[in-house]
Amino acid sequence: MSVVTLGESLGLLVASRIGRLELVPSMDLGFGGAESNVAIGLARLGVPVTWMGRLGDDAMGRLIERQLRAEGVQPSVTRDTSAPTALMLKERPASGASAISYYRAGSAGSRIEPADLDLDRVRAARVLHLTGITAAVSESARRALDAAVETAHQAGAVVSFDVNHRSRLWSAEEAVPVYRALAARADLVFAGEDEAELLTGEHEPAAQAAAIAAMGPTQVVVKRGEHGAIGFAEGERVEVPAFAVQALDTVGAGDAFVAGYLAELIAGAPLPERLRTAAACGAIACTAPGDWEAAPDRGAIARFLDAGDPVQR
Ligand code: ATP
Repeated sequence: MSVVTLGESLGLLVASRIGRLELVPSMDLGFGGAESNVAIGLARLGVPVTWMGRLGDDAMGRLIERQLRAEGVQPSVTRDTSAPTALMLKERPASGASAISYYRAGSAGSRIEPADLDLDRVRAARVLHLTGITAAVSESARRALDAAVETAHQAGAVVSFDVNHRSRLWSAEEAVPVYRALAARADLVFAGEDEAELLTGEHEPAAQAAAIAAMGPTQVVVKRGEHGAIGFAEGERVEVPAFAVQALDTVGAGDAFVAGYLAELIAGAPLPERLRTAAACGAIACTAPGDWEAAPDRGAIARFLDAGDPVQR
């Protein structure tokens, strides 16, 4: 009962101090990437998971592969000897604020192509999880997405798609038709409220979810940050409020949320439970810095949920 995800992971340099980046004396080293964040979240919840991607033949690439293995994710990596692993720099201009710069054009990860995929692993998976970021990075990456979706469909796997719009990678005009096509081929779609509005033109989360469901997926989840989430599946609509936490760093909340939802889906849990665990994972992920470092394991969720049941129907 495994999950396969594919995408680009990037080296991450975070300013060790608040202030202008050019005056910061040192940077902390790490990595991130929506799909590998989800993979780590799933591994922590005990789900066997493969992350597929292309990494440079460089220190950042080795760091990413090492860390994924250390977290229990099975990496399926193509080493690109002629392009580097992408980088992102996180600057902290003021307390509680951050600004990210990307150095990813022409990167190894963006050169992923269908031949890089281990399609046997896709065939064996229960869920294939994808994001719109992969569709944005290159034409060959879009072909890799197509090949993975096609294979998953033939094998009867659940295709999960998180829109994850990145306006720095492409315009809404370019992106929306691609997102709509991917949503139509997916069984499960996750979208933030803004992304759902982009896809549907609707303003209300319930109307957004219904409009996305009308495109084809049987499950739709609209993520609403500190307002919680709304889900549609099995003819049921469920709203879940966010848990009240002292949010320190909300980056990665959406990926932790997706991991929680997918773990419960694989465990056969009904929609309210899927959303409740997802919301707990999202909230816990906000309570410590890092894109994936704060993603919880089952024990952390159980302790957190002892505080009360947030599901409202
Ligand atoms: P990102 O791309 O930044 O990781 P996202 O836009 O995909 O995030 P969000 O809607 O921000 O996703 O967050 C996902 C879920 O995490 C929310 O539906 C909510 O349950 C939980 N969450 C997010 N922010 C908070 C918060 N400040 N307090 C509590 N829970 C939160």
